[in-house]
Amino acid sequence: MVIAALPLVRLFMQKERGAAAKAQLMELVNDELGLLAALIGTLFILWDKPLADPIAAIIVATIIAINGLRLFRENLCFLLGRSPGPEFLARVESLARSVDGVLGVHDLRAEYVGPGTVHAGMHIQVHRGLPLEEANHIAEEVRRQVQQVTGCGYCIIHVEAAEPKALSLAEKTTAGLTGA
Ligand SMILES: [Zn+2]
Repeated sequence: MVIAALPLVRLFMQKERGAAAKAQLMELVNDELGLLAALIGTLFILWDKPLADPIAAIIVATIIAINGLRLFRENLCFLLGRSPGPEFLARVESLARSVDGVLGVHDLRAEYVGPGTVHAGMHIQVHRGLPLEEANHIAEEVRRQVQQVTGCGYCIIHVEAAEPKALSLAEKTTAGLTGA
């Protein structure tokens, strides 16, 4: 009986260390329950009660299945690209708009690609006829701001020329400010 229990005890010790290292209390409890069921099943076999072994196996399988489903459910939102929420998007948009030379922001998107990791993308509008180097500099500044303030992992910025209507509006505002 002691010989049969030895590998279980050793397994129990290993599992306990692994779970403790990950600091996952639920994992530890599940492992303990599973191992306890396996140990009881083994003991019943030694005591000539063979039916207890398949019952213990079913209990162990159920615990593992529940554990797996729980982990799957926890990670599903990350696999499917959960949105970080409207507050996050509003913050990114206002950051982008605060950068000099940005006349408009649209098609802003952001999604979780892992726990605490967000990837974002947006279109920014700059003045028509702006040299490529300057447009690129504006895009880099938007990316730098967004990554620095939000901790966003990856930020794709598509630069486009502002439509004539938006441009004339922006110019009027600038002229008005300069004239004032
Ligand atoms: Zn666009």
